[in-house]
Amino acid sequence: MRKVTLIPGDGVGPEIVEACRRVIEATGAAIEWDVQDAGADVVDKYGTPLPAQVLDSIRKNKVAMKGPITTPVGSGFRSINVALRKELDLYANLRPAKTIEGVRSPYKDIDLIVVRENTEDLYAGIERMVDEDTAESIKLITRRASERICRFAFEYARGEGRRKVTAVHKANIMKFSDGLFLETARSVARDYPDIEFEDRIVDNMAMQLVQKPHIYDVLVLPNLYGDIISDLCAGLVGGLGVAPSANIGEEIHVFEPVHGSAPKYTGMNKVNPTAQILTGVLMLHFLGEGEAAQRIYDAVVAVIGEGKSVTYDLGGDAKTSEMADAIIAKL
Ligand code: NAD
Repeated sequence: MRKVTLIPGDGVGPEIVEACRRVIEATGAAIEWDVQDAGADVVDKYGTPLPAQVLDSIRKNKVAMKGPITTPVGSGFRSINVALRKELDLYANLRPAKTIEGVRSPYKDIDLIVVRENTEDLYAGIERMVDEDTAESIKLITRRASERICRFAFEYARGEGRRKVTAVHKANIMKFSDGLFLETARSVARDYPDIEFEDRIVDNMAMQLVQKPHIYDVLVLPNLYGDIISDLCAGLVGGLGVAPSANIGEEIHVFEPVHGSAPKYTGMNKVNPTAQILTGVLMLHFLGEGEAAQRIYDAVVAVIGEGKSVTYDLGGDAKTSEMADAIIAKL
């Protein structure tokens, strides 16, 4: 039995994590869950949204699956999601965007991989009020983190038989920070002559992804652009309800959907569990449970293709748990 830390999160997290857990268990995959609570709901109990035992559990098990966790806007505690990535040095955020037959989208046959740097950039949270009327954020880019993420992108591309890596930046304006990222990407690319390399300025990239997404393959980006562009890519394949992700470190991996805690739907058993379930598929692949992963993927595609037991965002009226039931029935 492989032990995996399971963090239900808050908002709609517990509902979709439960759906995902039931689907994974229905495959018979040899996984034992170590359930750990984090987020706004545990502050009263533990005095912090990220209790030490959560980090201890992930460090021990090396693999975790989490639901989304709410971050208060403006004031309040800092993002648990960002804290986890930094604390555990989960330097690569892998976000596949692949068309699923039956999901409404103006595009067909999209198969993009977004590799987002996960530890620095404006996300490092180095900011302050200079005076009452002036705020300042530091955009931190290092050669080490840029090299690590670019190497990850090329290794991933090679391992998955992909043809091209595109580095995305704004080095024309941020000549030092994004300039360093681009220079590092170019230098790493020289070690992978079998993979085509090109770069794009982020604003142009956003437009091109909307106009001709098929000419792209693997994208590698600093943290903030990666956050934004990966949501755009999720939009190309039907939205946040179907977008999974993995946070990868040297030893520790945390799997979570791209979307957040969708607070307005909390407790309504309404949102789409697919993003969480496909996150489970990514995790199972990683754990060497490729057969269970493929069975779940096929069942998800079949249920969405039939269009009967799907949630509101896919044009149906099934509840979260009903969609999970339908996927389990297909298994
Ligand atoms: P969100 O992703 O939670 O939701 C935006 C909208 O997308 C929702 O209102 C809903 O219409 C749709 N949506 C999201 N998930 C869906 C699903 N599974 N099925 C169907 N529709 C879905 O984004 P937000 O409202 O900007 O953020 C809410 C909270 O989540 C914030 O506190 C934010 O900080 C947090 N957040 C957490 C994570 C994470 O845990 N990794 C990621 C992003 C946002």
